[in-house]
Amino acid sequence: MATKRDFYEVLGVSKNATAEEIKKAYRQMARKYHPDVNRDDPNAADKFKEVSDAYEVLSDDNKREAYDRFGHDAFDPTRNAGGFGGGFGGFGDMGGFGDIFDLIFGGAGTAGRRTRTGPQRGADLEMRLEVNFEDAVFGMEKDIELPRVEKCDKCNGSGAEPGSSVKNCPDCHGSGQVRSVQSTPFGRFETVRPCSRCHGEGKIIEKPCPACRGNGQVRKTRKIQVRIPAGVDNGSRLRIQNEGEQGIRGGPPGDLYITILVRPHPRLQRDGYNLITTQSIDFVQAALGTQVEIPLLGGASHELNIPEGTQPGDIITVRGKGIPHLHSHRQGDLRVIIEVTIPKRLSKKQKELLMAFNDDNEEEKAGKKGIFDKFKDAMG
Ligand SMILES: [Zn+2]
Ligand SMILES: [Zn+2]
Repeated sequence: MATKRDFYEVLGVSKNATAEEIKKAYRQMARKYHPDVNRDDPNAADKFKEVSDAYEVLSDDNKREAYDRFGHDAFDPTRNAGGFGGGFGGFGDMGGFGDIFDLIFGGAGTAGRRTRTGPQRGADLEMRLEVNFEDAVFGMEKDIELPRVEKCDKCNGSGAEPGSSVKNCPDCHGSGQVRSVQSTPFGRFETVRPCSRCHGEGKIIEKPCPACRGNGQVRKTRKIQVRIPAGVDNGSRLRIQNEGEQGIRGGPPGDLYITILVRPHPRLQRDGYNLITTQSIDFVQAALGTQVEIPLLGGASHELNIPEGTQPGDIITVRGKGIPHLHSHRQGDLRVIIEVTIPKRLSKKQKELLMAFNDDNEEEKAGKKGIFDKFKDAMG
């Protein structure tokens, strides 16, 4: 399929066009490209569909908003099926409303695939949630604010101002579709197309509800509490059932998918269920051995024994001080990478002590060599 044209371009209106201007443009275009008027033009039906698709999105405040933010992707079924498709930009694009940033609306699909009758499941919602390193490890309850489309309370979802009536469309008798029969030299063809008077809705609202401007749905911010289980990792995806968009015509609601982004910890890193940290000691501590306090998660700490003769880059593993497993009582390990620092300046006394150490060291080496030589002599 060719790349989709911009919906505003299709209708020939500006991005700031009012609902009235969009409606007017659609009517003109629909008349111009209507297949009944353009029987000789094989492209008319495609044009007509393009115009109808554009109108369906731009005439609906929620869909228009989604389209303005995400373009055609907002209605691309491959983005709704699961996963993030194109992925996300990591920590760079955070911001917006607190912990939640970016929310991808599933979109209800385009005109061609829509079935008018019967209940329809609500769209799934995708969001990303940034959590602290420790919260990801230990789990937590978190209140999140979820902007989503819900039934308008004022008109109870009908789209009509309370007290006014919703009538079945006289053109299509409420079916939302118009059949027409054409006789051609090849036979009779019956075509079914969306009713242009009611735009396929089947109903005509005399006085639109002022709260939802006639579409029966409003965008609301709802607070829900979600439980982040202990042990989630960067990129973990949680499914919260029934917290997506509400269903249409009594259909079940969609689900909410939350992808977790974990903020880095200043000292600890994560490798699966193991915690990794780096500890600096000086060369005397490395040579003689020492004890250091390693900070752990949740304010805990571990007294780490560094044995004498520890080398730079040595890794000391402490069993069971890592991250609790997600579905069992096991716990990963703590791994401490040892860095050894060499002093840049020494006092006179320290220098003397090191020289003395060095002399002693040389003597020892020489002594060993002496023994080795003696051994060689004895063999020779
Ligand atoms: Zn109609
Ligand atoms: Zn309403």
